[in-house]
Amino acid sequence: MTGIDDLPVRDELRGKSPYGAPQLDVPVRLNTNENPYPLPEPLVERIAERVREAARNLNRYPDRDAVQLRTELAKYLTKTGHYALGVENVWAANGSNEVIQQLLQTFGGPGRTAIGFEPSYSMHALIARGTGTGWISGPRGEDFTIDLAAAERAIAEHKPDVVFITTPNNPTGNTVPPETVLALYEAAQAAKPSMVVVDEAYIEFSHGDSLLPLLDGRPNLVISRTMSKAFGAAGLRLGYLAADPAVVDAVQLVRLPYHLSAVTQATALAALEHTDTLLGYVEQLKTERDRLVTELRAIGYDVTESDANFVQFGRFTDTQAAWRRILDHGVLVRDNGVPGWLRVSAGTPEENDAFLDAVRELKKELDA
Ligand SMILES: *Cc1c(COP(=O)(O)O)cnc(C)c1O
Repeated sequence: MTGIDDLPVRDELRGKSPYGAPQLDVPVRLNTNENPYPLPEPLVERIAERVREAARNLNRYPDRDAVQLRTELAKYLTKTGHYALGVENVWAANGSNEVIQQLLQTFGGPGRTAIGFEPSYSMHALIARGTGTGWISGPRGEDFTIDLAAAERAIAEHKPDVVFITTPNNPTGNTVPPETVLALYEAAQAAKPSMVVVDEAYIEFSHGDSLLPLLDGRPNLVISRTMSKAFGAAGLRLGYLAADPAVVDAVQLVRLPYHLSAVTQATALAALEHTDTLLGYVEQLKTERDRLVTELRAIGYDVTESDANFVQFGRFTDTQAAWRRILDHGVLVRDNGVPGWLRVSAGTPEENDAFLDAVRELKKELDA
């Protein structure tokens, strides 16, 4: 049988595995940081209406520049981010993964490098590889915070073209302080200058504010966002960025023409009409996230401070065995490959109770 390595694939892809969080059919799935609440029925109706309208024009290509959608996203960011943005500051694509891919196609690529501070979002490194961008794994401290001096040294040494800062960070959950982001931006400008991409996929769940106001006077800063988490629309595939208008012009050099389908644009516009309801679920999830932190600590686990819709907990001598025992109880959590730690997404109160029962049992077994 022919395998991948029998094909003339690029050298850097040989022997590698694709992104693959298990999609197992178990009662409680808390492994991919999805929002556990289905979209409310009035929104489902509105999506159907908007998609019906869009369907009448599917013989035509969609708005290539998604102007109406970007305008509404800019309004949402202005309202929640305490910083005025217009359509010219916002770009949208099929998930923030595509936004990141377009950024690396524009500012990375063969002969260039990108750095991330790991453990962090594994897709940054994978998309770097896919775009032929060299990847540099920058350091994090024992407590998963970014050690500023060490990070500045890594930037000065490697002079990367793109710097990724994920805040709140995935899979650890903790926030990078704004002062650290600013210092890393300065270090990146002194070293190269390079683009600094702040991945705020989880910012709506944070105790703190978005870093959008830092865009003022910083043309090499990009903030990337998504509707996959807070908006409860992972299936929609809609990510976006906010930046200087020049960045929006630059990514258009690499985007595929008509990359964002008319159906996607219509669906995202419908969801944005229901922002208030959707952000209401975010408040419930934050309460549940805080409850998970408190209860996990009460059971006796170590927990990393979380500003996201998930919690990293440990520590385990055999992480894979712990993951398996929790799965035996019908609960799927995530092993992100961080030795000693697992990650659980905040679900509905019932799902979280099932998870807490499972890890209570596990703790008894481990202590026995
Ligand atoms: C989930 C996640 C995303 C979202 O990716 P989409 O392509 O928008 O679904 C982006 N960044 C981080 C850090 C994430 O955890």
